Amino acid sequence: MKAPAFSYARPRQLAEVLALLDRHRDEARLLAGGQTLLATLNMRLSEPALLIDLQGVAELRGLQLSSTVLRIGAMVTHSEIEASAEVARHAPLLAMAAPHIAHRAIRNLGTFCGSIAYGDPAAEWPACLLALDGVVVARSVAGERRIAAKAFYTGLYTTTLQPNEMIVACEIPLANAGQRFAFDELSRRHGDYAVVGLAASARVQDGLLSQVRLAWLGTGSMPQRALAAEQALEGQFFSEAVTAQALQALRSELQIEGDLTHSPAAKQHLAGVMLKRALHALTQQSALQA
Ligand SMILES: Cc1cc2nc3c(=O)[nH]c(=O)nc-3n(C[C@H](O)[C@H](O)[C@H](O)COP(=O)(O)OP(=O)(O)OC[C@H]3O[C@@H](n4cnc5c(N)ncnc54)[C@H](O)[C@@H]3O)c2cc1C
Repeated sequence: MKAPAFSYARPRQLAEVLALLDRHRDEARLLAGGQTLLATLNMRLSEPALLIDLQGVAELRGLQLSSTVLRIGAMVTHSEIEASAEVARHAPLLAMAAPHIAHRAIRNLGTFCGSIAYGDPAAEWPACLLALDGVVVARSVAGERRIAAKAFYTGLYTTTLQPNEMIVACEIPLANAGQRFAFDELSRRHGDYAVVGLAASARVQDGLLSQVRLAWLGTGSMPQRALAAEQALEGQFFSEAVTAQALQALRSELQIEGDLTHSPAAKQHLAGVMLKRALHALTQQSALQA
């Protein structure tokens, strides 16, 4: 199918983007990498009157490192994250997750912030943002708003972003010494969206687990933390018995929805497998050096 007719704007300044968004609101769509939006237009799942192309806005590009956070500008692509030595050093979970996203051609165009804004429950970045306690930096003509990852998603493909707001960046706290990370997912073919996936982080000292974060993708209508399973692991030495307690907690708390090919029971089983794998990976790898 062909996309419906739409007007097209290619501003050079962020202020112009925000003014257009404010004027057209729900009638407008931002075009970042286009790797999701163009498909939804061609399938006529979306019929915006105006596309606002972000490719010409230089101030939305680039990764920036400060003493506390990695700032990912709105037009930073999946491939830039995958290739960045700074990301590998200061936000290793992102480097681990990036190769799981689609295929190279899509990663070269698709953006981190586009994926966060779209909020596919099976996408890798929203779960990583949640596991890392990231922040979404949203801007409108009225100013800037910072939204914690855990408050950003409200349901299937829905977020707290307002129609006149856009994500200008996401911020990821820098990994600190002693933190470890694991990312794993199961998909039918490499590059497909995940059936189930897990983004995990923890501090591990001589087998003692703390600051455990478990964020799931592909399990429900939005990415979700497993707080009870985290609690079952917190302050415990890694062992088969502790793993069993975490698995039990996970079974009672994950809000699992089936999809076209997998029942909730199958996904629940896979989530347990992922958790066991992640705990082995976290406890066997060396900690980050300061
Ligand atoms: C075949 C195929 C396989 C894929 N597999 C995966 C996969 O395994 N995992 C995965 O995570 N993704 C996958 N994707 C999606 C891909 O990662 C997209 O790039 C990503 O979801 C959206 O990024 P984008 O920059 O292309 O956004 P666009 O397609 O340009 O936009 C997507 C939506 O987000 C909005 N938006 C974009 N940027 C902003 C912003 N800064 N502020 C507010 N709203 C914004 C747009 O208006 C639009 O509604 C796949 C895509 C394809 C075509």
